[in-house]
Amino acid sequence: MKIANCQLRIENKVLVVGLGDSGLAAARWLVKQGSQVTVSERQTRSDLDKAILGDLLRSGIKLELGGHKVKTFTEADLIVVSPGVPLDIKPLAEARGKGVPIIGELELANRYLKTPCIAVTGTNGKSTVVNLLGDMFLKGGKSVFVGGNIGRPLTHYVGGKQIADYVVVEVSSFQLDTTQTFSPLVALILNVSPDHLDRYADYSSYARSKERITANQGPGQILILNDDDSRLRRLRPENGPTVYRYGLKSEPGRHIFLDNGKIRAKLPGGKMVILNLDRFTLPGNHNRANLMAATLASLALKIPASAIQQAIDHFKGLPHRTELVDVVRGVAFYDDSKATNIDATIKSITSFSRPVVLIAGGRDKGSDYSPLVEAASDRVKGAVFLGEASCFLAEAFGNKISWSKATTMIDAVSLAFDRAQEGDVVLLAPACSSFDMFRDFKHRGAVFREAVKRLSNGAGEKTCLWL
Ligand code: ADP
Repeated sequence: MKIANCQLRIENKVLVVGLGDSGLAAARWLVKQGSQVTVSERQTRSDLDKAILGDLLRSGIKLELGGHKVKTFTEADLIVVSPGVPLDIKPLAEARGKGVPIIGELELANRYLKTPCIAVTGTNGKSTVVNLLGDMFLKGGKSVFVGGNIGRPLTHYVGGKQIADYVVVEVSSFQLDTTQTFSPLVALILNVSPDHLDRYADYSSYARSKERITANQGPGQILILNDDDSRLRRLRPENGPTVYRYGLKSEPGRHIFLDNGKIRAKLPGGKMVILNLDRFTLPGNHNRANLMAATLASLALKIPASAIQQAIDHFKGLPHRTELVDVVRGVAFYDDSKATNIDATIKSITSFSRPVVLIAGGRDKGSDYSPLVEAASDRVKGAVFLGEASCFLAEAFGNKISWSKATTMIDAVSLAFDRAQEGDVVLLAPACSSFDMFRDFKHRGAVFREAVKRLSNGAGEKTCLWL
């Protein structure tokens, strides 16, 4: 099988733009390879972790903090840009105009990667699927590095001995925007629904970024596609990877589907595999779809069905993804802080058969909330809107359901609790990013959890604000 590995010489002067996890990992790795590394970061010294800055300076990395200087960009031999940095900022545009190569940390690591790579992209479900894959490989006796987008950057692995049987990486559209040679042995595209429209011109540009995951694949490599996604159903790559498709129902051309509560899979030339879902605890058909995606990739790599079954039976899901926090006086509180776009929130709401009081809002990403309003109309009995997007949500929901606005998470939780009755669900599934009020989705989830704890400790008496 083909493994992409087109090593380049390490450039002399390398500029790393953005000091997030991947920028930091890239800078540390590059300096070890002998490059002269500068990091350019918009935040000022006082916003950044002193220990990290000290460590970077000690290792010989130059720091340009509090903004970007065009000259630093145009004089670099190579620019490694972090996924959070928009590619159209002026210094990058000027460097591009002068012919300076611009790549991301994923592309950098890929050029030195010697281990077969399984890469997972999609609007939602990436983290869940990479973790499922990691578990399936481990149960199948394979060693595996799991990382990427929000986990350990791939340069961590490349900087080590590279002794795993497989690397499984989660890749975002922003990372794929800066790839050139990335060509995973197995690529998975889970779904493409509107997201990040504050950064892409339109849905098609965003979808094309996701599809770059297969751009360099060829014969001997595998592409796994969700056949229930209307765009992916039409995707037929011309460059020759073997395509396997999954869907909830049996249909021609699908290699895996659900049948009477079980998974049925059959790859060309292989035996029929039947997997039991009795012990699979993750809610909703979207998680069954995630499971089928991971199962297809595992079967394609000859992981035994018994190992896959063990992984299914033991997988407990990830924090902040439809996670049960507590039940307070018969009301169940779920944290789905990671539902940062419309489709994730819809999937979350529709995985409950009980009435839902929704807590939504945060930083708006240019989304159209009307599909959420439609999905919510027969299941959501009330909503509390929080953060910068409250006004957009309030406008979209109008008088379709009763809603209220809150200014803090504590208020949001107590208003939602007021609205809920015994047997209902209070669901934090914001449909927005968290950066208006919180550090990230984990912080938002933790604050929600704290607010629920206050209620369970008796701090929240029902106040009937909804009458
Ligand atoms: P990602 O890494 O792509 O953000 P996660 O596995 O962290 O994906 O899940 C993110 C959010 O999307 C969670 O709210 C989760 O409940 C929801 N989700 C998970 N899988 C899917 C899917 N296949 N389709 C839609 N939403 C999903």
